[in-house]
Amino acid sequence: MQVIDSMDRPLRALRISVTDRCNFRCPYCMPRDRFGEHHNYLDRSQILSFEEIERLARIFVGLGVEKVRLTGGEPLLRHELPVLVARLRSIVGLKEVTLTTNGTLLESLAQPLRDAGLDRLTVSLDSLDVDRFSALSDATLGLERVLAGLDAASKAGFGPIKLNCVLQRGVNEADILPLAEFARDQGHTLRFIEFMDVGTGNDWKLERVVPASEVLQKLAARWSLESFHRDCLNCVAQHYRYLDGKGEVGLIASVTEPFCQGCDRARLSAEGKLYTCLFASEGLDLRSFLRAGNSDSDLQAVVQNRWRKREDRYSELRTEMTAPQPRVEMFHIGG
Ligand code: SAM
Ligand code: SF4
Ligand code: SF4
Repeated sequence: MQVIDSMDRPLRALRISVTDRCNFRCPYCMPRDRFGEHHNYLDRSQILSFEEIERLARIFVGLGVEKVRLTGGEPLLRHELPVLVARLRSIVGLKEVTLTTNGTLLESLAQPLRDAGLDRLTVSLDSLDVDRFSALSDATLGLERVLAGLDAASKAGFGPIKLNCVLQRGVNEADILPLAEFARDQGHTLRFIEFMDVGTGNDWKLERVVPASEVLQKLAARWSLESFHRDCLNCVAQHYRYLDGKGEVGLIASVTEPFCQGCDRARLSAEGKLYTCLFASEGLDLRSFLRAGNSDSDLQAVVQNRWRKREDRYSELRTEMTAPQPRVEMFHIGG
């Protein structure tokens, strides 16, 4: 069955956050002054077990989901993640299981994840400059760990790997061309993402967004590019290919050119709350329904009703909003 929301948008993709913990403190996501040593993370009993995640994923697949992306926090901190990948991979009707990671633990986990059936990998990489990387991750684990993780992932057969770079005005614009050069040489697909006003603590201002159009100008001044249409599931990027044949690059203009009209993504937090928008303030507590002993068909009805009522289009309305709205933190629902 394919469930449709109030704006005719199907439910096709599910992001599952497997932990709210992270070994980075990227200031745009988990600024250290708010998420320091004494931050209270969810405890084990609050987090969905692999059995519960698999059960919910099956229910979502029954409503039209074709692609699951595992995320976090840092998903590779979740113990035995390859076991979950293998369980999800066994779900009939699910076409793809993918993962977004900061890459710090990939060196040892790339091969087990591949063996478990993970289809594709996205690694976040905001800078190739050692000092800027340290400032942007606010952690002692360095850039070389991520680069070693990328090598291991390439060797394990993940390719092309997607690299996500969030650009901030006055912070890492100098990384645009070096990152593009690196991705071209290594056979990765780089995507530049506009800095978003997710969560409540990252001091977002429109002036700090580097518009995708500006990034395109910079890239086009250096290399010949052509835009192309990619026939993929839940594409949010604008795609360009390098005319010299060295791969492609993507631009995700979530702020300057919102794509709410085509948004077919649901998000499940580590504690089992369903969010129908990245900017939602409230999630629907599926864990309680699950642990209260409801049947699969009862759970399916709950999810189906929630999606049918969905009206979210925050990014299209952003500029019309006069007061800041309460909203969920990015590391709870994983981007
Ligand atoms: N820890 C993993 C990682 O960083 O790849 C997965 C979770 S992280 C929340 C998922 C993605 O969200 C990352 O690519 C990160 O750069 C992006 N992200 C976090 N905060 C953001 C913001 N304010 N604007 C745009 N992207 C953001
Ligand atoms: Fe951690 Fe990813 Fe958030 Fe950075 S963006 S703090 S790596 S969850
Ligand atoms: Fe989807 Fe909400 Fe983002 Fe719009 S603002 S694209 S509805 S997640």
